[in-house]
Amino acid sequence: MDEKALPRIQLEDYQRIVGPEVIEQLFQLAEPLKGLKVVHVNSTRVGGGVAEILTKLVPLSNSLGINTSWEVIAGGDEFYRCTKSFHNALQGNHVAIPKALLKAYEEVNAANAEILRPILDDADIVFIHDPQPAPLISHFPERKGKWIWRCHIDASKPYRPVWRYLRTFTSQYDASIFSIATFAQPMPHPICLIPPSIDPLSDKNMDLPGEEVDTVCRQHGIDRSRRTILQVSRFDRFKDPLGVIEAYRLAKRFAHDLQLVLAGGSADDDPEGAAVLTEVYAAAAEDPDIHILMLPADANRVINALQRSADIVIQKSLREGFGLTVTEALWKGKPVIGGNTGGIRLQVIDHHTGFLVDTPEGAAYRIRYLLHYQDKLQEMGLKGKEFVRENFLLTRHLRDHLALILSLRNGGSDRIELHRVDAALALSAPG
Ligand code: UDP
Repeated sequence: MDEKALPRIQLEDYQRIVGPEVIEQLFQLAEPLKGLKVVHVNSTRVGGGVAEILTKLVPLSNSLGINTSWEVIAGGDEFYRCTKSFHNALQGNHVAIPKALLKAYEEVNAANAEILRPILDDADIVFIHDPQPAPLISHFPERKGKWIWRCHIDASKPYRPVWRYLRTFTSQYDASIFSIATFAQPMPHPICLIPPSIDPLSDKNMDLPGEEVDTVCRQHGIDRSRRTILQVSRFDRFKDPLGVIEAYRLAKRFAHDLQLVLAGGSADDDPEGAAVLTEVYAAAAEDPDIHILMLPADANRVINALQRSADIVIQKSLREGFGLTVTEALWKGKPVIGGNTGGIRLQVIDHHTGFLVDTPEGAAYRIRYLLHYQDKLQEMGLKGKEFVRENFLLTRHLRDHLALILSLRNGGSDRIELHRVDAALALSAPG
């Protein structure tokens, strides 16, 4: 791809946020890897967490002297229907995938393998993200580089027939990365645990002037004199937007000025979004205090402003990979009421950076609590921000990648646990 399309990165800017030691460590790790060719491959350049991470991780890696590029495979309707089914199946849904869709999946990968052959043949390290491009590896039996399968999905209880099929591809890799320990599946190669991250300097996460936040709210009909709860998510059943509406309704009985903002858009590779959106409109039933915002994929500053304008951020997912929206909200000093699932558990430290909930009633109870105890709300917000600074910024993510590459080039080990959220243990300790 055209690397010029990616933003330029100044490491000094990160130093101001994470401190000089973190940057120094990155340089030390990168030194023996200078000039290496690293390629990332996924299936969408915009929309969803993976694209969000690669947009900055790739230039940051380049700024350390590692020759890093990002390729995107393209497919048709059948391909995306198939990979959406994989996504649901990895998250535990019993989905039967017709043979014709599997055929399209394999054909798209075969065609993309030929397009990418010159780049991938030449690569020292290849990161393949999620199931969409997983079969690429079978077209490179003579590969010289190390290939790593990076699973961003909660694959803790996959639907077995689909996982068995996918495993014929994923087991060919030299290593796998999962976001957290419980997501990992046994593999015949080293498994590495690396949580994702956010970029504190991106449009989505940088500091914004208060006037901009006001303007964005005004433009979207959000009344800043009212208290606001927000969920930012694709319109996807696993994100439980209907549960959020229910929680809002319950909480509003006691907080009459409450308004709910549901901000979303549909990722390029998510054909189910429209159906869920229709249900959301029906459930909102023209309540003027529910704001359903369909945002374009590049509305990063708008999402940033919405997160800053909210009193509380909700992420009531029923299943979640990592949940970057949680990280983004915590970074803005907002307590998060999150579904008790997946990577949300790693970020929402119950009673410290927010609350974990299992039901709309539970979410409503916590909304009421936080609206009532403003001092708690502020305190949790501050803790959340520091927690993200320590554990979930881009610099830590790149450090883990570099350490994995070094380890693989030195022979690797059976199971590599690069990152431990020690602070989580400290925060959740009583008192
Ligand atoms: N996002 C966005 N526009 C939307 C919905 C989500 O830009 O309409 C962003 C969101 O801010 C976050 C990412 O997409 O950065 C979603 O990542 P997450 O891990 O929360 O969920 P995923 O969509 O990958 O399941």
